Amino acid sequence: MSLRKIGASRIHTVSGEVIENGIIILDQNNTIVGIENQAEHGLDGVELYDGDIIPGLINTHCHLELSHLIGAAPTGTGLLAFLNAVVSLRDFPEEDILESIRKGDQQMQDEGIVAVGDICNKLDTARTKAESPIHYYSFVEMFDFMQDALTENTFQQYKAVFEGQADRHGNKKSCVPHAPYTVSPGLFQLLKETTNPNQTISIHNQETPHEDQLFMEKTGGFLDFYKGFNFSLEDFQATGKHSIYYAMENMNPECKTIMVHNTMTTQADIEAAHEWNKQVYWATCPNANLYIENRMPEYKKFIETNAKVTIGTDSLTSNWRLSILDEMKTILKYQSYLDFETVLKWATLNGAEALGFDNILGSIDIGKAPGINLLVMPNGTFDEQTTIQVLAKNG
Ligand SMILES: [Zn+2]
Repeated sequence: MSLRKIGASRIHTVSGEVIENGIIILDQNNTIVGIENQAEHGLDGVELYDGDIIPGLINTHCHLELSHLIGAAPTGTGLLAFLNAVVSLRDFPEEDILESIRKGDQQMQDEGIVAVGDICNKLDTARTKAESPIHYYSFVEMFDFMQDALTENTFQQYKAVFEGQADRHGNKKSCVPHAPYTVSPGLFQLLKETTNPNQTISIHNQETPHEDQLFMEKTGGFLDFYKGFNFSLEDFQATGKHSIYYAMENMNPECKTIMVHNTMTTQADIEAAHEWNKQVYWATCPNANLYIENRMPEYKKFIETNAKVTIGTDSLTSNWRLSILDEMKTILKYQSYLDFETVLKWATLNGAEALGFDNILGSIDIGKAPGINLLVMPNGTFDEQTTIQVLAKNG
């Protein structure tokens, strides 16, 4: 059996200490069979790199099927104008859509991403997911715009999408709600009945101040947004609480749950969610937040509540690239009180746990095949010019 030995100045295991001058030993399936010191092991047969090694990155929030819409929506308009811009776009030829999906998947591979939590409303991504080495968790996303008359049809239509997403080499899937402001209690109930505690659920959460305004006082931009689509909010009653409470009341607290965006989420909201469910993950998509709303979450709130943060790229409709490295750069640039190791854990182990892939991905540990990435840092430090070189693919 031939083993591959990769040596580097620093190995960020994520689950444990940073190893100076370490060696990772891989078998032919890229599974880690040894982690050693260069001084003890010697350098015989070792590929040596001057730089830092990190495990494969995890993207916990993407919409791969929207990859063809890159550049189609203007930046800085706010979520409601953004959504209106996206729904009014013309149809695209199917071959363009499929080609953009394939390119998006390849870009993520090149950026050292090894698992993706991917929202889907259609089956366009199924083929690419079946062929890619990336592990996909497909979140088949449902919404009925709070219209009871649409609930049953919506559910049946998306059930077909769910059935069509293949589960090749451990890919996973579940049916999930889109966001508190688009899902009726009836649809939440149907979703709850389809899920079991082994599944991960994802929901968009508190991305814009209008969302909380709707639930607090039935005011804000969503009233006109609904009117624009000719949907009635007559039966909707304000709850007097932030939108996240409506989601919690209607979701299964036994399921791992990824709250996505959380730009407006307060420390009290985070604590309430931790009370509600022991396995809540907080996916941040800073570049998408900057693209759409021109604001970012305050990560201090998540640090102070011991929250498990993960990182997502969102879609190419609301981002420039599908790169978790780029998201890390944005986080560390604008909230530089955070340290690299903290943000690296968000980008790797926390995401792998959220998606249930932490048995093989997320950290550099014996028995895992997490993918091995070298950080190429021309200035000798993690900054804008840092890039990733994939040294070994994930298992
Ligand atoms: Zn999204």
